[in-house]
Amino acid sequence: MITAKNASRRLAPLLALSILPALLWLVIANASAQSVAAPKAAQTVPPSGDYQRAVFVSWDGVRRDVLYDLLEVSDPLVPCWDNGDVFPVATGRVDAGGAPIFTCLPALAGAKPTDAPAGSPAYAPYQLFAAHTTNDGNTMTKPQHASMLTGQNTETHGLVGNRTKGQLAEGTTIFEYLMNTYDPVQPDGRRDGTIFRTHMSSDRKYVGRALYRWAKKSKALQRATGHGNGKGTLPGPLRHADKSFARWKAEEVELGLTETDFFMFLHFKTPDWSGHRNGADSRAYRRVITETDRKLYTLMDTLRTFGWGDAAILVTTDHGFNKVHHTRDAGRNVFNTWMGAYNVTLDLAQIPMRTTADYCESFSDPQDCLSNGPEEPMPPEDVVPNVFLTVVTPTLLDMFGIEWRGITPIEGESLYVP
Ligand SMILES: [Zn+2]
Repeated sequence: MITAKNASRRLAPLLALSILPALLWLVIANASAQSVAAPKAAQTVPPSGDYQRAVFVSWDGVRRDVLYDLLEVSDPLVPCWDNGDVFPVATGRVDAGGAPIFTCLPALAGAKPTDAPAGSPAYAPYQLFAAHTTNDGNTMTKPQHASMLTGQNTETHGLVGNRTKGQLAEGTTIFEYLMNTYDPVQPDGRRDGTIFRTHMSSDRKYVGRALYRWAKKSKALQRATGHGNGKGTLPGPLRHADKSFARWKAEEVELGLTETDFFMFLHFKTPDWSGHRNGADSRAYRRVITETDRKLYTLMDTLRTFGWGDAAILVTTDHGFNKVHHTRDAGRNVFNTWMGAYNVTLDLAQIPMRTTADYCESFSDPQDCLSNGPEEPMPPEDVVPNVFLTVVTPTLLDMFGIEWRGITPIEGESLYVP
């Protein structure tokens, strides 16, 4: 039996041998460092693309039709969910017939929440468009997050279910693409650490441990936290985000950095929890979506407070819902998802329309689906441009000005047009 103690005894001579060259190198490195005074203040090298800062939010399990229902409403006297105590607010816009548009989702719709402190601004509306979760029809949280953060389809990155272990190749996460470009590993094995900043708030099981491990091992992911709890004024991931922002800002001042460039991934998971527990037709589900929109507003407020109101925000969901499951009865796949963009304009002109053939492709017998039709009619909301979650990584890389075409296994298309 190999105990930890035994193992360490066996490894000790090996470790000593492997550490020796490193120790020698350190002595030499220190000697040379003394002769040439290294500047204390690191100089930042800003990304060469149009963007220096971006936050990507995955809003877990928010069905497109429910989101759109809440996004634009006509009657401010009808609560946002049955017997609810939150009412729509004015967007300041009118519909085609000239009637004012109200919303239950002020952050997405570009309005100020009713409970926002006096003097708070209303932010511009998000650009919203219909999307699909995946091309393989499996609507699970972990594979979809892996697709968002690598730009690869589930068949390629190998995470096909929430229980799939391992998978993902080294160097294929968005954290590694960004850091390897802007803050590459130095001969001493370290990165500068102040040129580009990265942060992720999501439990590892939702993004895949392999993704987390590669990103962390390579020091491409500087700070990783779980979701945190929902108590306090900055619930869940936002509290962690705020801590990172504060530290980055403090270091910007201390080190005299010219600017702070960053990528942050936040996972808002409560709608998924409510969807499973209460069903997508419940008032509880609508309530949680409404409440999570408020977090998005807080995020924009926080960014503005730190002087980074120019940060782009992408927000999407990993899957839809049917009652309390991700999928429809009889195994139908729920695509019914969406994507939003703030401070950046995305273009769908190059994206092909999704056809019945595309839809049937994910069925166990595509030919039967094509000749006899799917077991239930293809819902109108599923006939949308062919935007999959694999677009997230290439779009962000284009925004940051990083070349990825032909040199990465990225399969998604970029929606960014400079
Ligand atoms: Zn999910």
